Amino acid sequence: MIAKLQDVVEAIEKRQLVPCFQPLVEIRSGLLTGFEMLARWNHPVHGLILPSNFISLAEEHDLIDEVMDQIFLAAFQAAKSIETPHTLSVNLSPIQFQNRSLPDHIFRMAEQTGYSLHHLVVEITESALLDDLGCAREIALDLKSLGCRLALDDFGTGYSSLSHLQALPFDELKIDRSFVASMASRRESRKIVAAVIGLGHSLGLKTIAEGIETEEQAAMLLCLGCEVGQGWLYGKPVQALDLSSALAAPPRPTAAAPTPCGDGLS
Ligand code: C2E
Ligand code: MG
Ligand code: MG
Ligand code: MG
Repeated sequence: MIAKLQDVVEAIEKRQLVPCFQPLVEIRSGLLTGFEMLARWNHPVHGLILPSNFISLAEEHDLIDEVMDQIFLAAFQAAKSIETPHTLSVNLSPIQFQNRSLPDHIFRMAEQTGYSLHHLVVEITESALLDDLGCAREIALDLKSLGCRLALDDFGTGYSSLSHLQALPFDELKIDRSFVASMASRRESRKIVAAVIGLGHSLGLKTIAEGIETEEQAAMLLCLGCEVGQGWLYGKPVQALDLSSALAAPPRPTAAAPTPCGDGLS
């Protein structure tokens, strides 16, 4: 569906914005390490609507904070109810990362729900930082002093990735899905992924691969030293109601590839 402003306003009023959760796993063991929270609009007619249909609209009309409040509060509640604490990764829009009161706002939502920010990972896409890097850095430092970790999302797709890596105190690097998707068929993609993982490690960052759909991709990533993976191979995003089945799913370990790191990487 093509959403209009009035639809988004109504979605907020009727509290139809909900978090979904996608598992993040340690590639070697297949053990769950945490979840990424992904926004959905639970539409009474059209079902679960993807964020590309409403996040930018909410941003343009100054409604993104309302959207965030609704989804974050529900996600903190859901994450808090899980017995063994896992990390919870959340996405912040570029506009939010220019708002100096963001860290305090997140702190208050955590306080309100009793959620510990020591399990929270804040994901920022590269484009999010372009406007005012100084302000982004202050926000990043505040979030870290509250106990949050910081991830650079969709790495490799923006155009000043390296300067962002240098300017901000990241803990994690997320390799964009487009590189993972073409790894098995394109030698260039494999080389890029290998180089990104090496770069991440040399900077002391945890590397996470997005969009893993096949065992072959998982085996290649394991071989290249990537620690954590996310993708349909391990699980699609689920609503909080289904979280317990995601938590109960048996681990899906990845066997090391028979030949060292597949072909073309030596
Ligand atoms: P992202 O943060 O890079 O999230 C990963 C996207 O890849 C998600 O799409 C997820 O459903 C999809 N994905 C995960 N594994 C696979 C796979 O194996 N194959 C394929 N084909 N896709 C996979 P989604 O949920 O549509 O979200 C798109 C983007 O919307 C996110 O990209 C993020 O940038 C943004 N977004 C999501 N939730 C929020 C939010 O609460 N706030 C803000 N500001 N942005 C959000
Ligand atoms: Mg993300
Ligand atoms: Mg991403
Ligand atoms: Mg993405």
